[in-house]
Amino acid sequence: MRNELLAWFAREGLLLTNVLSPEQDPEHDEIKIAVRAPLVALSRSNDDFRECPDPVLFGYPESSLEMMTLDDMNEFVLSWFERAVAAGMARCFVCNQVLDMGEEKPWDAVFVSHDMHCWLLTHFDCKRYLSRDLKGRHPFEVSTHSPEFFDLRLT
Ligand SMILES: [Zn+2]
Repeated sequence: MRNELLAWFAREGLLLTNVLSPEQDPEHDEIKIAVRAPLVALSRSNDDFRECPDPVLFGYPESSLEMMTLDDMNEFVLSWFERAVAAGMARCFVCNQVLDMGEEKPWDAVFVSHDMHCWLLTHFDCKRYLSRDLKGRHPFEVSTHSPEFFDLRLT
């Protein structure tokens, strides 16, 4: 992840830190601090967590991060998710069904801001069970991959 995006998340107060003390890791005698930016989840599966896509790498102007608010970021992530859904790659986090871009879009992107910071997709009807499915997940135990590259330009 580019430092600029990391700095943006820091500015918005969305970076999580994990302090690893020497007692937990005897090989190192220093305190290690790990930092994690919010993730995006294509499904609840451990293989489906991605680093947050970087707007600038998807065609936003270089200076746009300075002006972006969390609402803008939500909108950007939603457009990324829409491409993922259109490609048949995204599932409801709760019921695990593949989502589609049908006429009546029955799902929504949700930003989870407690415990782990993560954007995910869920059916409107499944949303109420979400906290159950997030329980016990630890952001530093999830391995992430780079986000898929989609062409987000309006056609
Ligand atoms: Zn569902």
